[in-house]
Amino acid sequence: MTPYDDISPQAPPEAMVPARAPLIDGFGRTVSYLRLSVTDRCDLRCVYCMAEHMVFLPKIEVLTLEELDRIATAFVGLGTRKLRLTGGEPLVRKGMLDLVRSLSRHLKSGALEELTLTTNGTRLTEFAGQLADAGVRRINVSLDTLKPDLFKKLTRGGDVAKVLRGIAAAQAAGLAVKINTVALRDDNAAEIPDLIRWAHGEGCDLTLIETMPLGEIEADRTDQYLSLKGVRRELESFWTLEDLSHSTGGPARYVRVAETGGRLGLITPLSHNFCELCNRVRLTCTGTLHTCLGQEDETDLRAVLRAGASDVQLEQAIREAIAGKPKGHDFEIARARPAVARHMSTTGG
Ligand code: SAM
Ligand code: SF4
Repeated sequence: MTPYDDISPQAPPEAMVPARAPLIDGFGRTVSYLRLSVTDRCDLRCVYCMAEHMVFLPKIEVLTLEELDRIATAFVGLGTRKLRLTGGEPLVRKGMLDLVRSLSRHLKSGALEELTLTTNGTRLTEFAGQLADAGVRRINVSLDTLKPDLFKKLTRGGDVAKVLRGIAAAQAAGLAVKINTVALRDDNAAEIPDLIRWAHGEGCDLTLIETMPLGEIEADRTDQYLSLKGVRRELESFWTLEDLSHSTGGPARYVRVAETGGRLGLITPLSHNFCELCNRVRLTCTGTLHTCLGQEDETDLRAVLRAGASDVQLEQAIREAIAGKPKGHDFEIARARPAVARHMSTTGG
């Protein structure tokens, strides 16, 4: 018996589907994508993401699986078509598979187009098959280097072999795997072509991400920041990059590498602003809804839930938050302070 056994595929929130009037913000953007952080905890301590000695949240502050399900279901009822589970590390959350199985009822009903997750890959050997069985089709795995020593340094103790086994297990289970790589000037800049070659050889897309100034960490981010404009220029000195129109409505721009045949994404929040097409919002594991990754705006949906809100009241709170979605972020890496105080592991990357 798990704490989540009481949510069955026939639970009442199903009645909220199909969607009513979609969520449209004050700038006319339709919000159809929710990233849901299911925990702030993680089994790694990536240097750009967390402080070495992170203080994690008390359990009472974190949404229960039932609360996560209820909020996600409310979003689905309001037209959310894509749901990404993230963290922290989603696969360290107890009962995570129960949540995935429960949410997959929205895939079956057709209300949700995609249920996916972003993971560091350390637990995929254990969970890949069950995720696939629950209806997950694609996952993102974060991997910044293939070098065991560097991986250990960047994650403060992780084992890259475990992640590679996890990726293999995911593929064997039929999951499409996209690799996410944070570009770090001093650590993996020189390895980026090898990482791309490797990923494409494995049949995976790879997306490069610029470091974003989120949360206090010990390191100086101006040391880590690597502009992907420069990376692209470098790659074009020996590869042919063909622009693709493929878009996820998100911040990535895609190119095809003619020589490898694979797809490369570039997420450039700092050197290129991507806000005008933004279709997404984020919910932290404490139930705080952030309608912009780079602004401090927030709505406390946990307070709404724990005050005993009805589905209609919850929907109203979500609509009000979306109406106030900011036009865009204004990240700037050279600032001494992070643009926002919360860590990526809390917001859900
Ligand atoms: N633990 C999972 C993982 O690592 O994939 C999911 C959560 S993690 C916060 C999501 C993504 O955010 C990862 O790809 C990670 O590399 C990225 N990330 C974390 N901190 C970041 C930062 N300051 N700038 C850019 N990307 C960051
Ligand atoms: Fe954990 Fe992901 Fe943050 Fe790394 S990036 S510390 S794996 S939450």
